[in-house]
Amino acid sequence: MDFNTKQAKETVAHIATLIGDLMVAHLQQEDSPSLGDIEQGMRHLLQTIGREAIGHVLEKSDTVQPSIRCSCHHKAAYRCRREGMVITVFGRVKYKRSYYLCDHCRGGQKPLDTQFQIDPGEMSQGLKPLVALLGIQTSLDEAAKLTQTLLLVDISDNSIRQAVQWVGQRQVERESKWEKLSDWHHYMNSPTRQADRPPRRLYGSIDGIMVPTQAEWRELKTVCWYEVTPLPERQWPSRYTERLGKLEGLKATAIRYHCDIQEAKTFSTLLWSGLNLPP
Ligand SMILES: [Zn+2]
Repeated sequence: MDFNTKQAKETVAHIATLIGDLMVAHLQQEDSPSLGDIEQGMRHLLQTIGREAIGHVLEKSDTVQPSIRCSCHHKAAYRCRREGMVITVFGRVKYKRSYYLCDHCRGGQKPLDTQFQIDPGEMSQGLKPLVALLGIQTSLDEAAKLTQTLLLVDISDNSIRQAVQWVGQRQVERESKWEKLSDWHHYMNSPTRQADRPPRRLYGSIDGIMVPTQAEWRELKTVCWYEVTPLPERQWPSRYTERLGKLEGLKATAIRYHCDIQEAKTFSTLLWSGLNLPP
């Protein structure tokens, strides 16, 4: 999305002035607030604005039609505008959208939810990966606290678990697609094989570490693929060159990591597919 047009810049400047004035008026009632207080207050204010703006965007994107085509190929007639809720990076957003009901199969349709992949009452596509990132790094209850601190959104431990599993499932689907694509015969016969410019030299580094799982300790296998480019001499800090003399530096680039808890035979498929596909 490009907000760099002249009109967008003017609108942003206008909104910033309004928000700034609102903060100044509010601060006059406070007793010597710190910059930290101002930042925190501003974050909450912007969060509220974002929430209202997203609700506005959703409602404006909803079009009302007398009827739409149901998945059973019959007509679904417009019934009403129903309220929904979605948890976004700005918090819980309530919005109204058109609801259609099919007289043939009695199925209900909300085209706006389909268009924006909204699962009513659940996290949005924008929030889920962020929450999952926190859930992957630390325990679920710690991730819930971090979500509140960093994103100012209250999410239950259970929802964080679901987000982590959602990301894991997407990765499994992606890897199984890679495996299909990187099948040896498919690879050798693919017309695109010659079209891609392969790296002159590819480096691989494989390692494993024992990790505790619910049932037992298992080996987490990791592979890293990378290329190298020479590092110009001037980039070396003088303290290194003084101590070590002239260095022929190489820098790792296009680094790709893959890891999984799998038997060697199965892991080798992932290793091979990761090797063949673009990052
Ligand atoms: Zn139907």
